[in-house]
Amino acid sequence: MDELLTLKQHDETRQGEAFSVDTVDIDMPLKSFYIESYGCAMNFADSEVVASILQKEGFGSIKEPALADLILINTCSIREKAEDTVRKRLTEFRKFKKTNPGLIVGVLGCMAERLKGTFIEQEKLVDLVVGPDAYRSLPGLIEEAYTGQKGVNVLLSREETYADISPIRLNSNGVTAFVSIMRGCNNMCSFCVVPFTRGRERSRDALSIVQECEALFNDGYREVTLLGQNVDSYRWEGATAPPILPEGEGNLRDLHVDLGEDKYVEKRLKQNKDIYNLSSDRSAIVSSPSGRIGGAAVTFANLLEMVAQISPLLRVRFSTSHPKDINDDVLFAIKKHENICNYIHLPVQSGSSRILQLMNRTYSREWYLTKVDRIRELIPDCGISTDMITGFCTETEEDHLQSLSLFDYCRYDLAYLYFYSERPGTLAARRFEDDVPLETKKRRLQELVDLYRQHSLRTMQKEVGKTFKILVEGFSKKSEAQLQGRTDQNKVVIFAKEDFKKGDYVFIKITHCTAGTLFGGAQKS
Ligand code: SF4
Repeated sequence: MDELLTLKQHDETRQGEAFSVDTVDIDMPLKSFYIESYGCAMNFADSEVVASILQKEGFGSIKEPALADLILINTCSIREKAEDTVRKRLTEFRKFKKTNPGLIVGVLGCMAERLKGTFIEQEKLVDLVVGPDAYRSLPGLIEEAYTGQKGVNVLLSREETYADISPIRLNSNGVTAFVSIMRGCNNMCSFCVVPFTRGRERSRDALSIVQECEALFNDGYREVTLLGQNVDSYRWEGATAPPILPEGEGNLRDLHVDLGEDKYVEKRLKQNKDIYNLSSDRSAIVSSPSGRIGGAAVTFANLLEMVAQISPLLRVRFSTSHPKDINDDVLFAIKKHENICNYIHLPVQSGSSRILQLMNRTYSREWYLTKVDRIRELIPDCGISTDMITGFCTETEEDHLQSLSLFDYCRYDLAYLYFYSERPGTLAARRFEDDVPLETKKRRLQELVDLYRQHSLRTMQKEVGKTFKILVEGFSKKSEAQLQGRTDQNKVVIFAKEDFKKGDYVFIKITHCTAGTLFGGAQKS
């Protein structure tokens, strides 16, 4: 997918962010590293794991690439534009080698996985290429690189979750943190590269997640966001029992080798259909599987509750949910615990069942709308956000009208809107023609953006006069006389600083708004 036009799932303000820590545990780092990150929150969280691995090897982080001994870019493949940006940055970094011949440059993440040795062999841009499951091998590869050898490790793993590594918080506000709960994705959405770059899904040890969240709380953090490509399918079977895998499943790469890619994709498509049965029967949908098989596993709903119980002062968020997997157990957990935020990111991708089927999303328009109804029935004030793609292969005006009408129905609090652009290697690239003209894709995108903006202004206006509990995250972007925080529903609120500080909870009465921000004043009593 490509070219998003409005509020971004890939936080555009953070793309290319140079990460560093204010304090390093070791007194005098022997060597320095610079790391720049692109893409989704998972990638930014991974950079914190990498920082931890490097710190143990005596590296300290710095923000100036020209002064670094090691430069790493943690990359994203989901958009062509992101890949172009990375190539440009690598070309710039290569120039530093003229003044710093010992410099090692490495590429990490999804683009490393997708392009593998191309960076080294053909483009001669970097010394290291390390995929998302191979960060533990970084110290060895760096050692080799210092001796002049180029290192590539893009092996995907069935087990790696980095559960035992305490991430070093980079560029942290000291209040909010991301915590990875799983890696990879077993879905095969036809437009998406993630199953190929991040491997098969695996859940992290629940106890290590709770311990990490507890440690964050004890360090003063007041909000954790539990991260995964599809958090609702989180499932931890315990230390002794391996995760239940569908028969014959293994590493995506192994499967590709064993079956050939087409056969693997067929197998996955059939499984999805068998399990979720693209149904338009809305009455059957709300009783979708709870995820409990065998009774002993920790499901996502269980995990949410375990983290929520650390302290009522710790807010819990999560991302991303999949409409086929989110279930009543999760909704009841949100309803039960005041500190689990009433906010769900529920990507829809299209309002047309025909296009959803081509996208292999494994649900229909009706299924999705039933999920939205159920959320609003159980948690009436729940914020809901989404992702939508315009101009997917064969999309007609009628399909597009269905997307607009779905938007009208759902009235999202936040939307991440893209027009489709083909990614090499995906199912869609191999099976369908990218046949919607660019100007049509863009025009449809603009129509969705316009509709979304109308909705969001009206939604924000409805909040004026209400009072919300806000977690203070820091100064507002425009003034140190003002603070910024978010409501439970993830809406940004700006208010006068007074004597409040980061990490405080403050009750703010909303006085006015724009389409993106609420403004108000503190309620003293
Ligand atoms: S759920 Fe679909 S869109 Fe999301 S990461 Fe998995 S394959 Fe990609």
